[in-house]
Amino acid sequence: MFPDASGRDATGASAAGRQREPLDAWLLGPQNQCGRACVRLPSCLSWVVVLWLSAPPAAAQHEIRLLLSSNAASVTLTGRELRVLDDEGEQTLGRAGQRLVVCREGEGVAAKGVFDPQPAVRVTGEDVAVDGHRPLGVLEIRGGRGGLWLVDRLPLEEYVARVVEAEMGGGWPLDALKAQAVAARSFALRRCLQRQEEAYDLVASTSDQAFARGSIAEGRVRQAVQETFGEVLAFEGFPAEATYSACCGGRTGSAEEVFGEKVPYLRSNPDPYCAGCPGGEWQRRVARAELEKALVRAGRIRGKLARCDTDAGTLVCHAGDARLELRPAELRRLLGPALVPAARFSIKVEKTGLVLVGRGRGHGVGMCQWGARGMAEQGSEYREILRRYYPGAELRKMY
Ligand SMILES: [Zn+2]
Repeated sequence: MFPDASGRDATGASAAGRQREPLDAWLLGPQNQCGRACVRLPSCLSWVVVLWLSAPPAAAQHEIRLLLSSNAASVTLTGRELRVLDDEGEQTLGRAGQRLVVCREGEGVAAKGVFDPQPAVRVTGEDVAVDGHRPLGVLEIRGGRGGLWLVDRLPLEEYVARVVEAEMGGGWPLDALKAQAVAARSFALRRCLQRQEEAYDLVASTSDQAFARGSIAEGRVRQAVQETFGEVLAFEGFPAEATYSACCGGRTGSAEEVFGEKVPYLRSNPDPYCAGCPGGEWQRRVARAELEKALVRAGRIRGKLARCDTDAGTLVCHAGDARLELRPAELRRLLGPALVPAARFSIKVEKTGLVLVGRGRGHGVGMCQWGARGMAEQGSEYREILRRYYPGAELRKMY
């Protein structure tokens, strides 16, 4: 139910991402009056640019490119009246009836007897399914390194609903769901900006944000998304890096401490609201051999560890001539979230290895989901929740 990933994602993100000019400057620069933004309409980036400064129709929807998978050698599509379009979705390249097998062909894609090799195609039709799964929008198939890239081009608001469903679900209080919807939307739009040169905006897994592929019942999740329609956290003209995690264990972590990059609205603050988080306190033993293996795998040491110690909460290890300093968050990245539940913990060195003692689950930076739940249960509304966990970020209605 809760993401617990390490890496560059909502639950373990690289907080700053690529450095870019402020959005307004980007838009107003001479080369951008009708450059990339127009070419890419109606992608989410274009909408970000257009909507940030103007007030489009309230019902406006925009599209995100969600990467479903990237390693298949071939895919089988089923449906009715299947039609293959070029990668802009404009020209029909071929028709396939009820079944279509698309294969990788060099750096592109092809289907024997239906269309010649192309860098990418879109497939439309009725009840389209790919290897048994129904895309939520228009399916794009692209040739890529390692295999075919399947990209679902779906409305952003539908994507947000499915993140909220996967992250919390309809049993949570409405204002916690609304705060989650705003965080998920902000995170998604920021990725759209950062990945404007890539073939997708987001990955459909906790490597970006958890995503529910099945149907969502009408209820609180849909209500939370509708009632925050178009609302985004912003900071200095950009969508905020609205990271979140399951339970901070009583104090949120700062982006600097956990990700090594300072972000003004991702600070360490006490959190009295997540005391009810299940599995809040934990202890793990890490065998010396296990630590050695992880350090060798990461290229941090070559041979055996000579000795380890702690210094002001940091693990200090020696191997040959090398001296390593590992902060808890870095140690978690090395050992993996399955072994180390949270990013903040104390380290004790014993003869046979390490003993880690901590609280909470996840990286603990940004919104604490159980804290949001606690606040909502005590009557806080979602704006208040967002202000608490992203202090200094501004809530803006973008569309
Ligand atoms: Zn918390």
